[in-house]
Amino acid sequence: MPLDEYKRKRDFTKTPEPSGDVRTPSGDQLFFCVQKHLASHLHYDLRLEHNGVLLSWAVPKGPSLDPATKRLAMQTEDHPFDYGEFEGVIPEGYGAGIVMLWDKGTWTPEVPDIDAALRKGDLKFTLDGYKLKGSWVLVRTSGRYPGARGDSGQRSWLLIKHRDDWSSGELDIATFAPRSVKTDGDFADILAEDNPAVWQTNRPATGGSTGAMLSSIIEDAARLKAERAQEAVEPPPAPARRPRARTTAAAGDGTPRRAKKR
Ligand code: MN
Repeated sequence: MPLDEYKRKRDFTKTPEPSGDVRTPSGDQLFFCVQKHLASHLHYDLRLEHNGVLLSWAVPKGPSLDPATKRLAMQTEDHPFDYGEFEGVIPEGYGAGIVMLWDKGTWTPEVPDIDAALRKGDLKFTLDGYKLKGSWVLVRTSGRYPGARGDSGQRSWLLIKHRDDWSSGELDIATFAPRSVKTDGDFADILAEDNPAVWQTNRPATGGSTGAMLSSIIEDAARLKAERAQEAVEPPPAPARRPRARTTAAAGDGTPRRAKKR
């Protein structure tokens, strides 16, 4: 069954991820998305709808618009179609971390037979998302790369942009457009919507740059959540027309300023 591996890796009593099922293809346009996933390492999950599920590749450095830059893309288990809109916090277990819906849209194969292209290890396609557009190719590497183990060689592909109106040698799209296409939030916003204190123990990432990034995201999220809670209690102050010092003095001891002078 196509989603067996997806389901085996997850405990749906503990993760908010969709348990999802294979959907009947609408026969219309095919969905694609890229989810920016801060787990033990930051990566970008490219997902292409095919036969009612989402074919998935984890791209550690994210897509590049530069045709000269080949990005490693590790094929991962097929995901349910419903996963394509998912954004949120995975508190524990497989993929624990924060998921942002970084791009989405439709994709069109540039080959007559998707399954044959996948078997061959050469899938050319066009993306029409908010951030990613134009022609791309996924090419399976001949097998081995340093550190490959088990079947990981088979799962190793390269994601490459073709030269067209949407390619660019200069623009780093991941830096240029880092936020969610669903909420316009960043990782801290997504975590603030959930429970910023979820990782008192067992942080998904601790050491290195990912650990440092997660620490600062957790701090930002806690501050955002506190600010929002505060705003819910007392509405934000109206823009002050009076000089700040006077307002502060009046509020300081509750005595009107005029009365003090007399
Ligand atoms: Mn992932």
